[in-house]
Amino acid sequence: MFDWLIVGAGFAGSVLAERLARERNDRVLIIDRRPHIAGNAFDHYNTDGILVHRYGPHIFHTNSAQIFDYLSRFTSWRPYEHRVLAEVDRKLVPVPINLDTINQLYGLDLTSEELAMWFRERAEKIDPVVTSEDVVVSQVGRELYEKFFKGYTRKQWGVDPAQLDKSVTARVPTRTNRDDRYFGDLLQFMPEHGYTRMFENMLNHPNIKVMLKTDFEDIRDEIRFRRMIFTGPIDGFFGHRFGKLPYRSLKFHHVTLEKEWHQAVAVVNYPMEHDYTRITEYKHLTGQSHAKTSLTYEYPSDDGDPYYPVPRPENEARYKQYENLARQEPDVWFVGRLATYRYYNMDQVVGQALATFRRIDAALPSFANAQIKAPFPRPGRANS
Ligand code: FAD
Ligand code: UDP
Repeated sequence: MFDWLIVGAGFAGSVLAERLARERNDRVLIIDRRPHIAGNAFDHYNTDGILVHRYGPHIFHTNSAQIFDYLSRFTSWRPYEHRVLAEVDRKLVPVPINLDTINQLYGLDLTSEELAMWFRERAEKIDPVVTSEDVVVSQVGRELYEKFFKGYTRKQWGVDPAQLDKSVTARVPTRTNRDDRYFGDLLQFMPEHGYTRMFENMLNHPNIKVMLKTDFEDIRDEIRFRRMIFTGPIDGFFGHRFGKLPYRSLKFHHVTLEKEWHQAVAVVNYPMEHDYTRITEYKHLTGQSHAKTSLTYEYPSDDGDPYYPVPRPENEARYKQYENLARQEPDVWFVGRLATYRYYNMDQVVGQALATFRRIDAALPSFANAQIKAPFPRPGRANS
């Protein structure tokens, strides 16, 4: 008999499993339908012995010392600042757009002050800024929007940027200086021995049992536990009662080449050409030395595993309906990117999981009088 059933062994589920087992001595069963832990952050050595990320490039970055210190219990780190180039007008230029991007693309020699003026002359007045198109056009104008954002976003999300919340393209800043780092966060690192090793350390506790290749849907009528943490898609938990929440998916094409390097930086974006959005070359991220090199091409798609919640007003409204149902489940906590339908980075999911743990710990001082939940009924079936 377990105190907790945790569905999903990604960041959300694994952080909570670790906290509940280590801090409260609770007994935890954590399941995942995939054959591995670590969720989308899963990495492994491929058949050529190169460390790759199965679900695309994952770079850890945060401004929170608390989150970084927490994860540092389970891994040492390799300092790494992420740099990205985009192929635009057949040139490879830095992204986020910065001083060098504009000077290289247009053959100019602007200073930062001149570039700020250059942007102002092209920026369109948009008030209020609502969509992902508005954000970019109001900062740098329509031409750069079309070169860097329109095509990439249409590929990535299957809709026009004008139909996406501003928060999507607002993730990528615009700079007038020469800073070519993709992220501006204070702390930027890669786990020294990979994400999966970090997760193994996190879940290595006698009170934690891990069951892989186990879908909650297949065991929800059988398994015995007191309380649950659910980190899968929230609409699935409730039998899609209010209709499906869209999650954007990706197809990953992994290749290994018989040469040492393929590209100058870890990620090259293709906003204008090709069906794929970006190519990742892992050795830049991991620092591994190897005579060959492994790459991943990302092809966005509507079907497949859910990777991205799609930030649009109608989706948020539907999510709120599910969130209301979730509030009526006092013994289930919904945590993570899929269960709270938030376009969260890894550090944000860790922060959300740590906050959830604090709430649980305050609300449930002990399991002495807790009722046993078994089984957990399927939606639409008997509540008796
Ligand atoms: P997940 O990692 O998705 O884990 C949920 C787990 O639940 C999955 O393993 C799934 O198999 C399991 N599950 C779902 N339903 C069921 C069920 N019914 N039964 C059993 N198991 C179930 N973040 C960054 O900070 N930096 C990056 O560079 C970065 N790059 C990214 C690149 C890509 C291509 C993607 C898709 C995401 C990226 N992220 C990045 C985001 C990062 O992946 C997420 O923030 C993080 O993995 C979310 O953790 P989670 O536990 O909420 O979800
Ligand atoms: N984006 C773009 N062109 C780029 C980079 C990003 O249009 O060269 C847009 C696109 O809509 C993307 C979003 O900005 O989905 C956020 O980019 P980010 O790199 O944060 O995406 P993620 O790594 O989460 O896939």
